[in-house]
This record gives sequence, C-alpha cells and structure tokens, in this order.
Amino acid sequence: MTNCFAETGFYWHPIGGNNIDQISGHCYQYTDIVSTKSGALATTIIVDLGKFDNHQALGIKNSAAAVPDVRNLLKTPFLNPRAIFLTHSHPDHLNGIVHYLKAGYLLPPLYGGKYTKMILEDLYVRFNVSKYQQPDFYCINDGDRIKIGTLEIEVVASSHTCFDSFGFIIKSSEATVYHTGDMKIDNSTYFRKPTNLKTIRRLAHKITHVVADFCGITEDGFAIREVDTFKKIVQIIRKSHKDKIFIPVYPTHPEMYLTAFLAALKLRKNVVFYGSDNFYEYLNLIEKYGISFTKIAKKRIKVFSGQIHDIEKLGKSFVVIGDYNDVGNFFGECKDNSIGIITAKTFFNPLKGQLNSRNIKFVTVDDYPELQGYGHGFIGDLEHLNSLLKNPIFIPTHCPEYISDSCRSLMTYLGLNMIENTPKNNQTYRLESGKCILTDESPATWLVVSYSNNCATFNEVWQKPTSGEGFLKRTFSARRCKNKFKMLLLQRKKGNKQ
Ligand SMILES: [Zn+2]
Repeated sequence: MTNCFAETGFYWHPIGGNNIDQISGHCYQYTDIVSTKSGALATTIIVDLGKFDNHQALGIKNSAAAVPDVRNLLKTPFLNPRAIFLTHSHPDHLNGIVHYLKAGYLLPPLYGGKYTKMILEDLYVRFNVSKYQQPDFYCINDGDRIKIGTLEIEVVASSHTCFDSFGFIIKSSEATVYHTGDMKIDNSTYFRKPTNLKTIRRLAHKITHVVADFCGITEDGFAIREVDTFKKIVQIIRKSHKDKIFIPVYPTHPEMYLTAFLAALKLRKNVVFYGSDNFYEYLNLIEKYGISFTKIAKKRIKVFSGQIHDIEKLGKSFVVIGDYNDVGNFFGECKDNSIGIITAKTFFNPLKGQLNSRNIKFVTVDDYPELQGYGHGFIGDLEHLNSLLKNPIFIPTHCPEYISDSCRSLMTYLGLNMIENTPKNNQTYRLESGKCILTDESPATWLVVSYSNNCATFNEVWQKPTSGEGFLKRTFSARRCKNKFKMLLLQRKKGNKQ
C-alpha cells in the first residue's frame, strides 16, 4: 500500500463514496509526501468516514452496516492519518466512526461542526461507546485554518440540509483542493451560514482541483433554494383553504423542520410537532443546538410537541410537522378539511401510508418540485462554482460511476474541466497543478459490520454493483441517465443558438 506513495507529491485516494451505483459510505484520503533531510515525511488526513446504506446487498447475514476500509491506513505508521475532517452529520459521512470504535480501533482526532459533534455524541450513547474509546473532537467553524503536518485546511461553510455543513480547502505545496462536501450554492439558508462564496473567490487563484459533490448533477438549473421551498409551502397552504395541514419531513434534515415551521408562522397557524421517537430525538437536538421554536414564534402562534391532552388548544386551524405516515384519529375528522404536503417523497410514500387511506388530499414533489428540500447542487450550481474559479480540474464524488461517465460531454460543453477518467474507490491519484495522475488502483472492498455482545466484527467483501436492491435503480437507471444528459446537452446547444 505504501508503494504508490513512494514519490513526493500530494495524493487523493477515494476509499468510499466513488461507488459503482450507490451514493453512500463516503471516505477520502489525502496524503502529502515531502522529502526532508531525514527521509520522506507523510501527512495523511481523512475526510469523512460514513456508512454504506445498502449493506444488506453485500450479502452478509445479520449485517448492521458496512464501512469503508481504512484498516491499512490505521496500521501503516508511515501513512497514519493525523485527523479525520467531517463535512457534516449525515450517516453516509459520519456513521463509520462508531463502528470502527466498536470494533476496537483507535481513531485520530476528529474535526467537525458543533451539530456534527452533537449527532456523534448521540451515536456514542446509542452504541454504548465509552468515554475512553472516543477520539478527541475539535469543533470547527467557517473560516478556521488548521495546520496538520505539511497541510493547511481552511474551513468553508456549505449550504446543505443540516447545520454546520462544511467544505474544506486543503492546501499543499503541489496542489490545492476544494473538497466541497455535500453542497449547493443557495444563499437563502435559514439559521445557518450559506456556502461561503467569498472564501472561494479569495482562494480561486490557488485552487487547482475541486473534489466536487456531483449528486444533483442530473438536474439542470440551480438546486432549489430554501426560500423557494418556504414560499411554495406558504402558497399551497393559502390556496388550499384547509384548516389542518400535515407536513411530513425527513428527521435528518433539520432545515425542513425549520422551513415548514416558518411557513406556519407566516400564516399564523399553531404548530404541533408529532412523530416517531427518532423525529423527537432530532427535534430535541435542534433545540439543544440553540434554536427555540417558541422564541421564534414570539407568541404569535402556539407551539406544541407530542400528543397534547387538550386538542382544543390547537385551535381550528393548525400545522402538524412530523415523520408520520399515519396521523391516526388524534387530530379528529380530517377527510374534508385537511391537506398533506409531502416534502420528502422518497421516504414517505403517501400511497402506502395512512394519509391516503384517510382520504386526506396531498401534494408531493411530483406536483411541485420546490417542495423537496434538496441539499445538493444541480448543473447550474457546478457551472456557477466553475465560473468563480480559474479552470480547476473537477473530480466527481457522491455520484455513481455511470452518472459521472454519462455527464462528460455536457460538462465539457459547459466549460468544466473534468478529470479524464472517472475515479473509482481504491484508486490513487497524484494531484499537480493541471494534472490528476493515476498512480495506483486495486479492487475496492467494504467492511460489513456485524454485532455480537456489544462488539463489532468486520467481514471484508469486494465492492460490487448493488443497485438491483438499492435506491438508485428504482429512481434512475443507467440508460435513462445517458438519455437525460444527451437531452440536456441538446437543449443547451439549442438555447445557445437562439
Ligand atoms: Zn448530506
């Protein structure tokens, strides 16, 4: 493993995240090798250590998760990571940490935002990770510059669906990488900093490579802005003339709790948070983070949580924010005077759920795409980012191979300088100004995690396509993807001729 790091240089090595057909289990290694009088010196950092969502498809019975394989790094002294930088708190970027700790590994210090720390601490409790097993955690903020060995890492705020989402500008003497993390350009985020374009502009002349979130690349234009989601919810409620409004949201997306709440506040409707234990856990974390819904309401509306005993207190017209499919009879007869606004269709299938069987009329993202609080940039976001920079090489991540392969002609037409070959997990690239040189590749593996007696064990398996059972196959096949990019390219060419 150390052989491909024999020469001095700055290396990028995706361990997870650049998958065949999945978008999870993110983990990226950056290693800077310099020569000194006493020999070669390496500085390695890891960005994110997530979990692979579709672990069942890897074929190990009773698996609880799958994680990227960083064991070699942990046991090779020369390459020992000195830090793990965490872009944000979503499980596909964060949850690998606990499984490594439960398997008895020691991890280097973690650097992440305050909210990421809160979510991790929650995981420590849930997985029973003792204090002495927990690595040090350093809270970081937009604008921080952290020196690790020969690298300097500058923290850049990112617009995403949770608090404290960051990108990192990783500076070495050979190349400077902007590792975006999950992000879009949106500057209309509520209660948190949007993507810091000022920093990106300031460092534009330095940035040679962008390891970029390509997750939303199949859609044209800019990713939906939070303010547009807010406006659409307000408009739908207004137009519906209904008294009872049901808005299911993703528990892991606090931004939707906020957007739905602000819409209710704007229309002076009392709010009740109503959902599963998981939903309330996240609600508590949002409040612990420092956001008080009652304070924001300033007595203009009443805010309740859970089952309230005197339902009359809610008044005639109210908004229910939660993660339910079944609202039960708790809110009284709902058939004629209710509407459901489904902001997260991939999670809540209203046709299977009880909103439908209770004959509650509902609208979804199919009716109004603005309803989806989307946290990843579309094509327009990438184009905009490119326009701020000085022709860096774009390296796609958070995106299955077939999407990166199919978008190539369109990206070239739009002036994006994309890496020549689509990077795969377990390849190593040396990054130099204007170059990405493939120095090594071997088949990627995942570690499937099983638990017994409160301890994790790892089973190594080869990476393989899993979409037959996964999320992407259902939503976006390789053939449809190819056709879509062809169509987008034609549209752009046509648009430019007019
Ligand atoms: Zn995310």
